[in-house]
Amino acid sequence: MSEKILVTSALPYVNGPIHLGHLSGAYLPADIYVRYKRLNGDDILFICGSDEHGVPITISADKEGVKPQVIIDRYHELNKKTFSSFGMTFDNYSRTSLPIHHETAKEFFLEFYNRGLLIEKKTNQFYDEKVKMFLPDRYVEGTCPKCGFEQARSDECENCGSLYDPSELLNPKSKITGETPSLRETTHYYFPLGKYQSSLEKYINDMDEKYGWKDNVLQYCRGWLKEGLKDRAITRDLDWGIKVPVDSAAGKVIYVWFEAVLGYISSTKELSQLRNEPDFWKKYWQDTQTKYIAFIGKDNVVFHTIIFPAILMAWNEGDKEKYCLPQNVPANEFLNFEGKKFSKSRNWGIDVVDFLKIFPPDPLRYTLAANLPESRDTDFYWKEFQARNNNELADIFGNLINRTFTFVHKHFDGKVPARSKTENIDDEMLKLISEYPSKISSLFENFRIKEGVLEIMNLARAGNKYFNDNEPWKTVKSDKEKCGTTLNICLQTIYTLAELFSPVIPFSSEKLFKMLNKEPINWSDAGKINLPEGHQLNKPEILFQKIEDEIIEKQMNQLGRPEDALQPADELITIDDFMKVHLKAADIISAERVNKSEKLLKLIVRVDDKERQVIAGIGKSYSPEDIIGKKVVLVANLKPAKLMGQESNGMILAAEKEDGSLYLLILDDKIKNGTRVK
Ligand SMILES: [Zn+2]
Repeated sequence: MSEKILVTSALPYVNGPIHLGHLSGAYLPADIYVRYKRLNGDDILFICGSDEHGVPITISADKEGVKPQVIIDRYHELNKKTFSSFGMTFDNYSRTSLPIHHETAKEFFLEFYNRGLLIEKKTNQFYDEKVKMFLPDRYVEGTCPKCGFEQARSDECENCGSLYDPSELLNPKSKITGETPSLRETTHYYFPLGKYQSSLEKYINDMDEKYGWKDNVLQYCRGWLKEGLKDRAITRDLDWGIKVPVDSAAGKVIYVWFEAVLGYISSTKELSQLRNEPDFWKKYWQDTQTKYIAFIGKDNVVFHTIIFPAILMAWNEGDKEKYCLPQNVPANEFLNFEGKKFSKSRNWGIDVVDFLKIFPPDPLRYTLAANLPESRDTDFYWKEFQARNNNELADIFGNLINRTFTFVHKHFDGKVPARSKTENIDDEMLKLISEYPSKISSLFENFRIKEGVLEIMNLARAGNKYFNDNEPWKTVKSDKEKCGTTLNICLQTIYTLAELFSPVIPFSSEKLFKMLNKEPINWSDAGKINLPEGHQLNKPEILFQKIEDEIIEKQMNQLGRPEDALQPADELITIDDFMKVHLKAADIISAERVNKSEKLLKLIVRVDDKERQVIAGIGKSYSPEDIIGKKVVLVANLKPAKLMGQESNGMILAAEKEDGSLYLLILDDKIKNGTRVK
């Protein structure tokens, strides 16, 4: 029976590009699940978007001296594009800065406010006297009162996951000025999380009983429940965010943890607008038949198993239409990189956008999927990536495809050969492929994606063994009928693999379907005999290119180096190399434009008290009259060259900005022309 399923992936913060660790947490497993469910014929909706509020964004903006809007526009576009190149098939990728999201968040806030559910409380908040502003969340760093972690935020520790009152934080420092902030009284609205303690306990127990939640998720949320849930502030003193829709709360915004989770709903509402079906979103969010699965990383467990369900429970207590709660929250642990945490500042790891400039998406999808941190943290290793690509995708799966196609084109005119009398070995192979779709299905249904992916590769292994054991290179001469049977069964295996692998490596599967001259079918039909005798195949192409050692070594060498020292050692020069360049101070005596050239200026410069002509490409940045009399740096021993018919004896140095504008290196007047610069 077809199911109605709503799938969400955690909304990524848009204060930077996504890296491989993000993909392994909330995105790749979700995409594999969704693609599998679509092939299964289920009615499935896949929702995501950018989380564009919150302090990480304002901090990034402050650092660059730009408005938060600049940061969110930049990374929203970049991440949206990156996800698409990686093959993520969201039905909608929205952003929480859109009016539709602001309206949704305000609607929830006002509903609770008007029902008298929210509690107004005076509280002490960190305040930076120098810049005269309150310092919420990550604007303050200090030592966690629970675990001693030194980079804890004002009210939350990333290391141990504790939430506490700002007054409990030890050694607080303002991230803006580095000063010790004072505590100042302010008023905030609180959501009574404790009121939902027993309902949440019951909800989590029920869901686990019915749908089998993951141990890591249960452990985490039960830890929270055991501590006892307290009222949580849902407003902040900040400029950037969704304004609190209450007159008495000027200058306050809704706290990002309250509104970001509602972004799933507003993203679905946006999709409804795009489809011109205003109530489309209700078919998923407000239908008790919906199976809602929220894919997240472990840092988000509390928001999706406690806070978001509590918000929806609170809404559902009113007399409005009711929302469905997550049925399962298959959170993953973290992916590390070569044994350490990803770190932008230590240049440890790689952004997905950079990765995809060097390698196609499928080998990355396969490697990450085969090593998902489903029950514990795992690592990405460059060597493992190379091995998964070369030894598994290319040498096992690629080899099975390649040798089968080559054989069929060479000896059977590229048509599926007949399957005549089958022997035990053939029947066993046919039985194996027929069992595979339901075998993989039961793993994917239980979010054991990694095991499923490794199992699919085992079918390709079995296909290669079957090919070898039947020795078609011999039977093609001695018993062509038997050879045909072998290849027929190899092709049925390949077709099954194209289908089963398509959620994991969709780009390669698409090519493989073209080679097979067939379309994907319903998942449950995949293991059947789907290629009729005589069916014409297309020409094969190589699906997986091997990755050479030197390409991997280059990546490994770049790890952990400061950004500006990224060139390999053989590109570094010695002092002797440098001293070969004679840089000298030179006076510009005269300057005029070169005929018919916008860019070139003809200069006469004096160096070592001799005059020489230099043609300089600075005409777009300087007029001749700007530079006469200036003292510049000249490459004095450059071979003469002709530019637009004019002889040039040297080059003057300038710095070039990204937009192409040039800035001459101007020396102090006191320096005599001819003086060496080194
Ligand atoms: Zn801690």
